[in-house]
Amino acid sequence: MSANLFSRLFDTMTEPDRLAIETAEGARISYGDLIAQSGRMANYLVSRGVKAGDRVAAQAEKSVPALVLYLAAVRAGAVYLPLNTAYTLNELDYFISDAEPALVVCDPARAEGITALAERVGARVDTLDAHGGGSLTEGAERCAAEFATVARGGDDLAAILYTSGTTGRSKGAMLSHDNLASNSLTLVDFWRFTRDDVLIHALPIYHTHGLFVASNVTLFARGAMIFLSRFDPNQVIDLMARATVLMGVPTFYTRLLQNPRLTREATRHMRLFVSGSAPLLADTHREWSARTGHAVLERYGMTETNMNTSNPYDGERVPGAVGLPLPGVAVRVTDPETGTELAPEAIGMIEVRGPNVFKGYWRMPEKTRAEFRPDGFFITGDLGKIDAKGYVHILGRGKDLVISGGFNVYPKEVESEIDAMPGVIESAVIGVTHPDFGEGVTAVVVADGNAGLTEGQVIHALDGRLAKFKMPKRVLFVNDLPRNTMGKVQKNVLRDTYAALYTKAD
Ligand code: AMP
Repeated sequence: MSANLFSRLFDTMTEPDRLAIETAEGARISYGDLIAQSGRMANYLVSRGVKAGDRVAAQAEKSVPALVLYLAAVRAGAVYLPLNTAYTLNELDYFISDAEPALVVCDPARAEGITALAERVGARVDTLDAHGGGSLTEGAERCAAEFATVARGGDDLAAILYTSGTTGRSKGAMLSHDNLASNSLTLVDFWRFTRDDVLIHALPIYHTHGLFVASNVTLFARGAMIFLSRFDPNQVIDLMARATVLMGVPTFYTRLLQNPRLTREATRHMRLFVSGSAPLLADTHREWSARTGHAVLERYGMTETNMNTSNPYDGERVPGAVGLPLPGVAVRVTDPETGTELAPEAIGMIEVRGPNVFKGYWRMPEKTRAEFRPDGFFITGDLGKIDAKGYVHILGRGKDLVISGGFNVYPKEVESEIDAMPGVIESAVIGVTHPDFGEGVTAVVVADGNAGLTEGQVIHALDGRLAKFKMPKRVLFVNDLPRNTMGKVQKNVLRDTYAALYTKAD
């Protein structure tokens, strides 16, 4: 059998009438429909000149046809390249010139600007709007549903996803058919997905979480997805009555907790709540358990590696930990300088190896070489530790490490202490250029408005709990931490905001 992900997903499909996707607007798409629609769209892509190995780039709002486009591109042997809907034309210029797609699909409102960029690399342009209308679906409707899925090898590329690139240029992570299929099948097993599952799909589909984890896992299991164009807590709570799984970023969980309708009764029909893409506060985990009786299952992955670790389905789901390495995935913690493996509990660089790990960065052979060890481990850039029970803990991105007076300060360590204080909702610790220390440990805190917490109180409470060199030099209060759409705190934005904190002449 061909290793094409599409073949692996659907060649064994025997129940075309089974429900695959439903939408909030009431559309119901069976597995048979999904396969037929992807066939029409694959035929259309071929008619637009897309060949095996060509990139098909898409900046499209979430809709069922946008998901069909992904399946169709993979089915045609092309490489699917989803782009964050927030990217501006200026940013798209880089992605389009770097990836040189054969076809770019975009919102009609963007077509003019994107056509100018696409022409430079000889790419054609089709449109797809938020409701699934546009030249792409019009063209596909005119095509036949039968399409012979293009044979692909396991190492051939199925997708390129650009990393968010908060430092330097975004890099295109090349993901193979084997990478995607193996990880999804592992997760189906690990999270006990079955055909009876109904997933609330409220994540964007330009990112690994919503596109691969949520969609591929459900489709491999022959479950159904309720496809929502965005996350709305009230709607999600309503749907829990007939769904079984929610996959979310931590902000989903904090926002659901703010809703008084979230109760044990409201979540009675659900069997699993998964969180990932950013750290879930231990407090959120505990509060969720107390309110609903469900322990959120936190997992850890990244664009380049798919999913690496997960808290267990049956065993202990530890608040603040990202769980155990998934079957077939090796995880180790090393000294960032020497690459020597460290003992349990020691903090260092998290490295991973397994069938889930990507093929390298698109057209960046040197960058790729620099991020892999000779024995095949990928250097994730995340700092963390493995505890005595084998659970992995993430202490932040390596680039967020604060070096103050020559000492390493792991932001998470300081954040955990601050978060545990009464009146604190959450915090982010960053390094800010400091004339004496190189970097000054700086805490940005979201406090409960009624607590009346002051900078002096926070510092006082930390005194004696943290070594002197870890103590924040300043504590600043904000209403909200800046986050991207995946719920990640944008520490680069905070660093820019407070760049002159210690150097300003006052
Ligand atoms: P992305 O490539 O956008 O999926 O981002 C991957 C990064 O998100 C990882 O390298 C981690 O820094 C972070 N991340 C993902 N899942 C978790 C988690 N459960 N806890 C903490 N950080 C996470």
